[in-house]
Amino acid sequence: MELTHDDVNATRVTQWVRCCTVNSMPVEPFMSRNHPTYSPDPELLAHFPTVSGNAVNGLGETETRRPSCFFWHPPERQTHGRLQRYVMSRFEKSRDGGKDWGDVGDRGPAPLPVAPERQEGTAQDWTNAVKAYALANEADLVGVAEIDPLWVYESYQIAEPHVIMLGVGQNYEKMKHAPPGPGNHHSNTEVRRQYNRGARAASKLANFIHGLGYQATPHVGPMAGALNMIPAALAAGFGELGKHGSIINRTLGSNLRLAGVSTDLPVIPDRPDLFGVDDFCTRCRVCTEACPPDAIHDEKQTVRGAVKWYVDFDKCIPYFGERLGCALCMVVCPWSRPGVAENLIVKLARRAAIGDATRA
Ligand code: SF4
Ligand code: SF4
Repeated sequence: MELTHDDVNATRVTQWVRCCTVNSMPVEPFMSRNHPTYSPDPELLAHFPTVSGNAVNGLGETETRRPSCFFWHPPERQTHGRLQRYVMSRFEKSRDGGKDWGDVGDRGPAPLPVAPERQEGTAQDWTNAVKAYALANEADLVGVAEIDPLWVYESYQIAEPHVIMLGVGQNYEKMKHAPPGPGNHHSNTEVRRQYNRGARAASKLANFIHGLGYQATPHVGPMAGALNMIPAALAAGFGELGKHGSIINRTLGSNLRLAGVSTDLPVIPDRPDLFGVDDFCTRCRVCTEACPPDAIHDEKQTVRGAVKWYVDFDKCIPYFGERLGCALCMVVCPWSRPGVAENLIVKLARRAAIGDATRA
C-alpha cells in the first residue's frame, strides 16, 4: 500500500509520542501548524533529557534569577549535554565526505599580559578609545553596559564591572540560503565566519585594554560562556528584542552576531536604543509563520521574572539539530533585509508623529 504524506507524518508524530513517553519528556508532542509536513526526527528526540529546556530556561517563573547553564555550554555543566553531544556529532559527520564548508578565518590573537602600569585617562577618554579601536578592528557595532549579575550564568563569575559589546554583520546573500541542508552550507559557514570575526574583534580589543594596564576578558560565540550576551547587548544600545528571540538593530536588523569584552577599564555605559520594534513585532507574524516547528510564541511569556518574547527551546532545537543550524527566523525578519531597517524606522517615526498630532 502506498503511504500518503499524511500517513507518513502521522507515523512520525506517533514515533515522537512514543519517544517522549519513553524519555518522560515533559513537552507536548506537536504537529507544526504552519508546516504540517514537518515533524521532529525521533532519533534526535531520543537524546532529550527528562527535563524540558523551557523549564531550565525559567519559562513561567515569576521570580528573577540568573540563567542556568544551557545548550552551547560545556555538556557537563548543563541538563542537555547528551543532546548537545549528539547534535555536534551530526555536525561532524555532515561535512560532505570530510571536506570543510569553507574558509571561516581565525579566532584572533592569544592574550597578551596586562601592562604593569595603568595609563592615565578619564572614562570619556577610554570610552572614545575603545569604541574607535573596536570599529577599526573588525567590529561593526560597539556599545558599553554595566554588568548586571542577572546576565551571568549560574556557576560562573565575571569579576569586571563593565562590558563592551561588539556586533558583526553577516553577509545577507549567504544567509538568505538558510536553513542549511545537505550540500547547502552557505548560511552556517557564514555564521561560523562571523563568530570568528567577533572572536578576533574581542581578543584584539582585550589585548588593547591589557596594554592600557586594565583587566579584560573576551566573551565569544558560538559556544556559550559566563555572559548572557543578548541582554548585555540590549543594554549597550544595540536595539530591541524581536519576537524571534534575537536582537533587532537599527541598521543590521537581526543579521548579526555578538561578542563582548568585560573589563575594569572605566567606561561610560550607553542607553538602550528603542525605536519601535517591540510594537512592530506585535503586528508582524513573518517569523512565526516561517518557523518550521512553530517554536516562536505570538504572545510574550514570563521568563525568570521578566515578560518578553520567547522561543520554545523544545521545538526549536530538534529542527536546528536536524538541519545543522537554522537562522531562518533571523533571515526572514523584514528588518534583516539590507536597506529595509532604515526605511522602517522612518515609517515608524512618521506614524508615531501622526499619532502624537492626532492625540494633541
Ligand atoms: S532558529 Fe529556526 S527553528 Fe528555531 S525559532 Fe528560528 S526559525 Fe524556528
Ligand atoms: S519577523 Fe516580524 S515578528 Fe518576527 S522578529 Fe521580525 S519584525 Fe518581529
